[in-house]
Amino acid sequence: MHKDVTGTIFQIQRFSVHDGDGLRTTVFFKGCPLRCRWCHNPEGLRPGMLLAANRQLCVRCGRCQAVCPQGVHSISPGRHDVLRERCRTCGRCVEACPAGALHLVGRQMTAGEVVREALRDAPFYTTGGGVTCSGGECTMQPEFLLAVLRAAKDAGLNTAVDTCGYAPPDTFSRIAPYTDAFLYDIKAFSPELHKTYTGVDNALILQNYRMLHTRGARLDVRIPLIPTVNDSEEEIARIGRFLQEAGRPHALKVIPYHSPGHAKYAQVDEPIWEPEGRFTVTPEEAQRTLEAMLA
Ligand code: SF4
Ligand code: SF4
Repeated sequence: MHKDVTGTIFQIQRFSVHDGDGLRTTVFFKGCPLRCRWCHNPEGLRPGMLLAANRQLCVRCGRCQAVCPQGVHSISPGRHDVLRERCRTCGRCVEACPAGALHLVGRQMTAGEVVREALRDAPFYTTGGGVTCSGGECTMQPEFLLAVLRAAKDAGLNTAVDTCGYAPPDTFSRIAPYTDAFLYDIKAFSPELHKTYTGVDNALILQNYRMLHTRGARLDVRIPLIPTVNDSEEEIARIGRFLQEAGRPHALKVIPYHSPGHAKYAQVDEPIWEPEGRFTVTPEEAQRTLEAMLA
């Protein structure tokens, strides 16, 4: 028996069909070291619990301001400011709000609890399904991730890790023996491009890819294709050449950009971004180009 470990998640999604083989139970871990401008889960970016405020529902009654011991809420005509850095996520304002405008994102669970919840779906894992650890970025909680993967393997479940690849190599070395497949994002090959649109350099991501490939890990590469960012012929060719040289992935899928919508961003006060143009190379063309390069 391994020691159980507690972590913070913000969702468990049942019957996922895009997060690995078969039907999956996808666990979304809180916290991410990247800030991809097109992220679809802005509520998962910050580690730990988070207060979300839906200003469209807010009736400016001021009850949240009155009950909060930290002075987080500031209500003025037409405005509701949330000073998040002061929030202790005690939930008092959530309970006091008569409009349902506030909620806490995230909950603490042990690895054992996560896997027990996943096991409820086990009867449906008939075509290679299992548990997928996603986020946020699940490697940001390495001990919790390791504990979930070990517990899942102890229970006989297939495991996948959906990752941006930006974590200490040691984290990947430790989780690799308990991971059946890595869903590995390559967002750009050019370091400047990567830094501009995700906030971090990609050297570590490429290094981890090589290391995992050398170890024989299954790598299912996913490339989010974003108009005006990485959809040029040159950038797609650079990614293809990297994969040729570092090691061909088990599978490769180009994921077309879809707007994440602005409502979730506004609730957690993350900056909103939209690409300023259309695809230069379509996702289908990019997929064909990369498949031809890796054939
Ligand atoms: S959760 Fe607690 S600390 Fe945070 S804003 Fe609400 S009352 Fe204040
Ligand atoms: S308690 Fe709810 S409705 Fe009232 S000001 Fe705060 S968020 Fe708005």
